[in-house]
Amino acid sequence: MPIQPQASHYIGGRYIENETGEPIDSRFPATGEVIATVRAADAAIVDQAVAAARKGYEEWSAMSGADRGRVLCAAARILRDRNEELAMLETMDTGRPLQETRVADAASAADCLEFFGGMADKIRGEQISGEEGFIYTRREPFGICAGIGAWNYPIQNAGWKAAPALACGNAMIFKPSETTPLSTLKLAEILTEAGAPDGVFNVIQGRGKTGQLLAEHPGVEKVSFTGSVPTGLKVNASAASQLKHTTMELGGKSPLIVYDDADIESAVIGALLGNFYSTGQVCTNCTRVYVHETVMDQFLAQLSEMTRRIRIGDPRDPETQMGPLVSDTQLAAVMSYIEAGKAEGAHLFLGGGRPALPGLEDGSFIEPTIFTGVRDEMRIAREEIFGPVMCVMSFAGDEEVIERANNTAFGLAAGVFTKDLRRAHRTADRLQAGICWINNFNVYTVQPPFGGFKKSGIGRENGFAAIEYYSQVKTVFVHLEPLAPAY
Ligand code: NAD
Repeated sequence: MPIQPQASHYIGGRYIENETGEPIDSRFPATGEVIATVRAADAAIVDQAVAAARKGYEEWSAMSGADRGRVLCAAARILRDRNEELAMLETMDTGRPLQETRVADAASAADCLEFFGGMADKIRGEQISGEEGFIYTRREPFGICAGIGAWNYPIQNAGWKAAPALACGNAMIFKPSETTPLSTLKLAEILTEAGAPDGVFNVIQGRGKTGQLLAEHPGVEKVSFTGSVPTGLKVNASAASQLKHTTMELGGKSPLIVYDDADIESAVIGALLGNFYSTGQVCTNCTRVYVHETVMDQFLAQLSEMTRRIRIGDPRDPETQMGPLVSDTQLAAVMSYIEAGKAEGAHLFLGGGRPALPGLEDGSFIEPTIFTGVRDEMRIAREEIFGPVMCVMSFAGDEEVIERANNTAFGLAAGVFTKDLRRAHRTADRLQAGICWINNFNVYTVQPPFGGFKKSGIGRENGFAAIEYYSQVKTVFVHLEPLAPAY
């Protein structure tokens, strides 16, 4: 499969190029080599995408929910058939190992398309009794939804946004991150192949400027954004200035609480998955691990042993468990946090450097890193690092740890390990987070809602809840009797 796409944008069911757009290179993060170049969409391309999406929307929204659902389910099947090829493309673009991209990317987008494909003909309103008649409500599409994605899970991001949006009858224009522009073009091709009318799902490339043009375009009715809190605040402000609906999937600094009665081995596995999967580039990651002081030594001993076993290397090798960070820029950002941790007096327990990998010297690799002796006020414990840097902190009491866990502006996810059911649910009840895991971490399916409290977001993706964020309610009053004279 050629990695260089036919053209940069996919609009109205076909590839479109704009020769004058700013070139953007996509690099294979394990070697730094350029694997493709796309060009940023300017205002004219954004206008073209909006016009195509409007036409697509008219046709798509007039189709029955069952017919729309069939298209989404057909797209899910094609994604699954092509999973191996799409996994390799995602590995080349993001640097994440094949072990992950085979299960968490196109496969997750397929799960989501299937889930919402099955729901497209089941979207319901209410019926309310009224005087001399009745009232009913309908869920109607907004029209054109903009999707703006992050670079960690590009096709999953696009699938999670497109599936509920399209199920509800909307059209979508998706802008992937400039760092990982490739796989969402494949999703667009596949939706066309599955029978989506031209213009129903469009992809345009570009940096923040293009994202801003899209979010502010008067023809776009809803903006669904995945990315960092600072960018999310900007995108939300520009959408709000035109009273557009938004879904905001933003960053996190999630806590994991390991009580003294926890199964320590499971807790260590949870902490590893919640910090080192995708080289730490996961929004829900439990980068603040609170371990009860009486089990700290046991926890650290197992953590150290298991971390040393992680196989770092070429992400195309099916044996590799941890690949590079997505870019040199991200590497520099993560290394600066490691330096800040050391400067603020945290103890560098493991890692902190660059692994020596023959042949991959130019890749943005980093060792899985663990700090102990971290205090809550340190930058590494407060700010989202988005790399494989775990902060381990000790605590003595339940009240104390819950208060510390909640003492953050973020509220995306949280976890707790304990064998005591009451303690587990009591803690989940008190944690200020949109997603809580009990005795596990970072396991996802598309059936439950996904999204954050506090600065981690607005709205929800996935689950029945997503329907509320990709449709609007119309109330219809039905009067069955002749009207009495009014005056
Ligand atoms: P980012 O905020 O830098 O960029 C996200 C997207 O916004 C990119 O497509 C970018 O081009 C675009 N953008 C930048 N400026 C813009 C503007 N002014 N207007 C419109 N669009 C603009 O995020 P990133 O570095 O790509 O991704 C990492 C971040 O994403 C982390 O903070 C992570 O936690 C978050 N994330 C959240 C979730 C979630 O579901 N909550 C999932 C994945 C990643």
